[in-house]
Amino acid sequence: MNWIVDIPVFIFGLMAGSFLNVVIYRLPLGRSVVRPRSFCPGCGKTISSYENIPVLSYLFLRGRCRGCGVSISPRYPVVELFGGLLAVLAVHLHGDWVNAAFVYAFLMALLAITMIDWDHRVIPDQISLSFIAVGLAWSFFNPGLSLISSAAGALAGGGSLWLVGILYRKMRKAEGMGGGDVKLMAMIGAFLGIGLVLPVIVIASFFGSVYGISLMRRGGDGQTAVAFGSFLAPSAAFCMVFGSTLLAWYFGRF
Ligand SMILES: [Zn+2]
Repeated sequence: MNWIVDIPVFIFGLMAGSFLNVVIYRLPLGRSVVRPRSFCPGCGKTISSYENIPVLSYLFLRGRCRGCGVSISPRYPVVELFGGLLAVLAVHLHGDWVNAAFVYAFLMALLAITMIDWDHRVIPDQISLSFIAVGLAWSFFNPGLSLISSAAGALAGGGSLWLVGILYRKMRKAEGMGGGDVKLMAMIGAFLGIGLVLPVIVIASFFGSVYGISLMRRGGDGQTAVAFGSFLAPSAAFCMVFGSTLLAWYFGRF
């Protein structure tokens, strides 16, 4: 551990997490993520900068708005904390700043997608499509990812979910896999390369099914769509960190 680097990186990450909260809240509503300043949804009071210190303000204000006392979701400080921890993780995964920045941007995009898909059942194109390009660009800097593997990963990732969506529509005559999932999986493939496309889909499908079954057990009708992007994105983050270990272990078995 190198505290001289980790502490400033963590603080930077907390602030990025604070911005990510704004993105998660506003992007799916089609609102600007820069203007106006954040305000309390309860009373409309503008949140001053000292009330907007990541995590600390939430603790000092005991999770309530200072104006009207409406309670603030603990999600906000949790996302901020994730922002900080993921920044430290990114720096530890890649010693050099350029690669760490790509890793961090990818992990934060995945975090935003997880929350937005969970809340609204949509994955904003602004994130998924632009990050396909960012993933392809990363292959020029990352010695562990060739442009071929990145492009093939985008095609295989998007293509496989696109096929599953078509089959599902034919069989069930219902919308299962959304177009958002296709673009998300293309983005994931572009970042992780072709080798990790299948592991990401398998892990996400496993946890997505477990969750879907638990919903049905609790009396769901079986038609309730699971926000698959909220499973694909964390699974991609897991594979970004442990993917090479996972593949080495798997192929070591044969
Ligand atoms: Zn208020």
